Amino acid sequence: MSDTAAVVPASSLVLCDLMLSPSDPALVLPPICASCGAPANGLLPFANVFDRPIFKYAHAGRPNDDTAYHIVHARMPCCDACQRQHEAELPRRSSLFYVGTLFTSESMIFVVCAAIFAGYFYGRAFHGGGRGVDIGPLVIAAAATLMAVAGVFSAKSVTKRLRLAPQTSITRRFAFSDNLSLAPLTAPHFQYTLYNKMFGDAFAAANRAALWSEDNPEVRRGRRHSLTASLLIFGPILAIGAWVTIEKLWASLSRWVAH
Ligand SMILES: [Zn+2]
Repeated sequence: MSDTAAVVPASSLVLCDLMLSPSDPALVLPPICASCGAPANGLLPFANVFDRPIFKYAHAGRPNDDTAYHIVHARMPCCDACQRQHEAELPRRSSLFYVGTLFTSESMIFVVCAAIFAGYFYGRAFHGGGRGVDIGPLVIAAAATLMAVAGVFSAKSVTKRLRLAPQTSITRRFAFSDNLSLAPLTAPHFQYTLYNKMFGDAFAAANRAALWSEDNPEVRRGRRHSLTASLLIFGPILAIGAWVTIEKLWASLSRWVAH
């Protein structure tokens, strides 16, 4: 094989199911560019957003920003050329864009109202009939300011996903799923789709110990723990329910016998 063959993009995909998330420090990243297969010069950090429709039923089909979106961070081995390509594809964003994302959150309505309220009471506090600072309105204004600041922080966390850099033709070649096993105590399950066969094969081989499969004792142990936890939580509830039912049945049965 010649040296140039190493940098020719391979078309076949490598699929790999692991118990490690893309941000897990235990994940082994072979020093091969995950995009083109050339020797990697560094790690390219990026993040993907996943929709978790777990709590949607409570919001009549409307996604809830707090719970429905989950950000997974990753680092992919990358060569200099692919890194430059990635940077060239990233959109140029102004600070106005960042402020704009905050205003997609409803809590900004509250922030604007609190700010107007605070402004009005600051005005009252500092022009209290020429008698210096009026403490009453100042306390109200300070409380309203605190609420506005809290509202901005809330809007920031809820809209975080909108400020993430979008995927590029480079980061798309190191694709991964959200955690597919969300049941408590189960081993995490991430599905990787690697578009460069050389990197994919090396990646799968290097992380063989963390393969997510039914044969893996850790996966089976997690499933067992999850079942035990469910029994511990729901078992007593079921037992109480059964006891109450039997009590009632017994009472009506004794009444029927007494008649
Ligand atoms: Zn590359």
